[in-house]
Amino acid sequence: MLTLDRVAAGYGDLLAIRAVSLEVREGECVALIGANGAGKTTTLRAISGLIPIRAGRALFQGRPLDGLPPRRVVELGVAHVPEGRQLFPSLTVRENLEMGARTPAARAGRTASFDAVFALFPRLRERERQLAGTLSGGEQQMLAIGRGLMARPRLLLLDEPSLGLAPLMVRAIFEIVETVNRGGTTILLVEQNVRRALEVCHRGYVLENGEVTLTGGRAELLGSAHIRQAYLGL
Ligand code: ATP
Repeated sequence: MLTLDRVAAGYGDLLAIRAVSLEVREGECVALIGANGAGKTTTLRAISGLIPIRAGRALFQGRPLDGLPPRRVVELGVAHVPEGRQLFPSLTVRENLEMGARTPAARAGRTASFDAVFALFPRLRERERQLAGTLSGGEQQMLAIGRGLMARPRLLLLDEPSLGLAPLMVRAIFEIVETVNRGGTTILLVEQNVRRALEVCHRGYVLENGEVTLTGGRAELLGSAHIRQAYLGL
């Protein structure tokens, strides 16, 4: 579904990712893990058109993503739930969700999307008219994921959904990720919580200094001496 072939991207003179190659197949949940500053967020931003791809290629369902504005990438079926949630704090829950359904296809399916998102997050239905800025951290993360789902994506890019959340909420968020994936949405998940990410995802890639240094299936990565030492503290 998604292929990155030696993708480079960065900011000004800094090449934050140098040659990232990875693949996500339809239906999979794939984890992208790595230390702070490894280039995980940059990889997601390059896929979704928020920053330009400077070298290499990105293909989504066989179509090049390079040079497309974010709006077009969303129209193709890729939604990005950014790190830090990036909600509109002075808009209500419902209005934030509406902002996720901007493409013609998403607008047409908006009623069904609302139902699906509220079924997944009953708490958001209860708080439909509450301002996003007054939600708890966990509720804000639910809203950010819900807004991404309102675009009716085939591929969901999730950037650190567990960041800053209490353990119980972390568990709830990963359960949601699993449910969304089982429902047929393909997921590329960036996470610092390596154990949880690999429990939910089928495969993973390890990013270090802007390059993929290790890849494998869930069991293989959880058993890798490097992962255990560097990311699981074992
Ligand atoms: P984290 O887990 O801390 O979010 P990450 O793996 O997602 O890390 P990136 O956010 O992709 O890492 O950052 C990769 C590199 O790019 C870092 O050195 C970072 O300082 C730099 N960088 C990120 N965003 C910008 C920006 N807007 N301007 C300049 N440099 C940036």
